[in-house]
Amino acid sequence: MNDEQLLRYSRHILLDDIGIDGQQRWLDAHALVIGAGGLGSPVALYLGTAGVGRITLIDHDRVDLTNLQRQIVHSLDRLDQPKAVSAAAGIAAINPEPRVRPLIARADAALLDELVPQADVVLDCSDNFQTRHLVNAACVRHGKPLVSGAALGFDAQLSVYDSRGGRFPCYACVFPADQPPPEQRCAVMGVLAPLVGIIGSMQAAEALKLLAGMGSALPGRLLMLDGRRMEWTDLQVMRDPHCACCGAPVPLPPSTPAPTPASTPPSPSTAQ
Ligand SMILES: [Zn+2]
Repeated sequence: MNDEQLLRYSRHILLDDIGIDGQQRWLDAHALVIGAGGLGSPVALYLGTAGVGRITLIDHDRVDLTNLQRQIVHSLDRLDQPKAVSAAAGIAAINPEPRVRPLIARADAALLDELVPQADVVLDCSDNFQTRHLVNAACVRHGKPLVSGAALGFDAQLSVYDSRGGRFPCYACVFPADQPPPEQRCAVMGVLAPLVGIIGSMQAAEALKLLAGMGSALPGRLLMLDGRRMEWTDLQVMRDPHCACCGAPVPLPPSTPAPTPASTPPSPSTAQ
């Protein structure tokens, strides 16, 4: 690290849990961010300001005036630009150091199979159930931790899905792909702008902790925020041994008590 980096990152380096080693891990790390919208905005900004060395941003969409109410990485002078490109510019305006790769694309299975193995952590900031499952499946296949957030209206949720070691659930254990929610998008439903800021900031925090080697306390927990009452619900979520995505290929022996999945799966928010 040079003198400018020591200065720029000093308030992180001062933290005992991070220090020079943690900062160096961020400088050497690669984060993959799916979606550069409401959740992706604070994620991109905080990963960028923290100095995460490589950030790959995927978004197929362009910046629209209706986005600027909450998608704070974009700006009025970047209207109509691809969101991934605009977000890269937003990071560079604060910290030009990270190598940001903007990809103007939809996150399909083939692209994810190319990108997820290269990443140290994946952040799902997408806005639909199908993409969430594609991202989750790629993270399970390639053994990468997934920091997942969602927000719609006044409600939001957050978790970390880390199926490595077979201890914790993946996204599909909690929200089975064959039980899709009614498609709800903030284009129709609306979303309270700071809610995506709250959840996106928490996603960035969890990703930074994972990258710094501090781990995350969120695997196996689903945090749900009622933004009207400002109340958090902290649900324990279990791995489903029969999960179509991460389930064991062979049945558990009868003597082994199987963990029970959440009996009433919470409803996934799908918008951002
Ligand atoms: Zn699973």
